[in-house]
Amino acid sequence: MTGHALGIDIGGTKTSAAVVAADGTLGPVRTEPTPRGPQAVLDLVVDLIRDRTALAAGAEITCLGVGTAGVVDEHGTITSATSTLPGWAGTEVGVVLARRTGLPTTVLNDVHAFATAEARIGAGRGLPSLLAVMVGTGIGGAFVGPTGLWRGATGTAGSVGHVSTPLATGLPCSCGGSGHVESIASGPGIVELYRARHGTTLTTRAIAELARTGDRQAVEVLTHAGAALGEALAGIVDVLDPQVVVLAGGALQIGPGLLGAAVAALRSTALPGPARVPVRTSELGAVAVLIGAGFAARSGG
Ligand SMILES: [Zn+2]
Repeated sequence: MTGHALGIDIGGTKTSAAVVAADGTLGPVRTEPTPRGPQAVLDLVVDLIRDRTALAAGAEITCLGVGTAGVVDEHGTITSATSTLPGWAGTEVGVVLARRTGLPTTVLNDVHAFATAEARIGAGRGLPSLLAVMVGTGIGGAFVGPTGLWRGATGTAGSVGHVSTPLATGLPCSCGGSGHVESIASGPGIVELYRARHGTTLTTRAIAELARTGDRQAVEVLTHAGAALGEALAGIVDVLDPQVVVLAGGALQIGPGLLGAAVAALRSTALPGPARVPVRTSELGAVAVLIGAGFAARSGG
């Protein structure tokens, strides 16, 4: 496809837009706070697209790719979403944006977009398969194989955060279920685990600081959360046997305790082959969703 794709990243707190060239090169990134309510979010995206002359610097925009929180069906409709985007479930993002912009529009889950970009030009480039996992406010994942992103029958593939783990038994999850790894190893999960064990509410940053100074309680919490994540990942790599696991997200900034415990649990729990899978951190960082959305738009999904 000639011309450029416009990539959009709709997150719980901010929404970004940038032109994405065929090789994944990004134009200037414009970022705005994500407004409350689906109508306001779609209005913001249309405004960002109207501003495309500024974004594109004269380049022709021929398609639109949107990466968004939530489960996305094949029509670009959000079939479920957590409370980070209130009212987002049921929104026909693809249909509405295509009608309002006149551009062919592809919508995909934000972690699916992140994985698409990392597979093509990031930590998984040149490899036939990749499991991507984002650990932040929630835990999301995606699998990319030799034929591309595996979205699954209902767009739900890669929902790593909602794998059950005995280490989280009884804890409520953002999906409405309980006992899922997200409820113990996401940012809010770690905060809650620390509060439940030690009676104090601290931020993940504060817990990480304590762990760095050798505080036994903080180290214990991060180790427990990391072990839960690693055991969940072990089950997934046993099923998919990917060439590489790529990790990203805010919770990984909290230091080696969480990540080290996760990798150790993966190595000790998975079957012998998948237990040796290389684990890398994201090469593209926060712009991976924009890049992946642009790639998906150019290939029509
Ligand atoms: Zn869940």
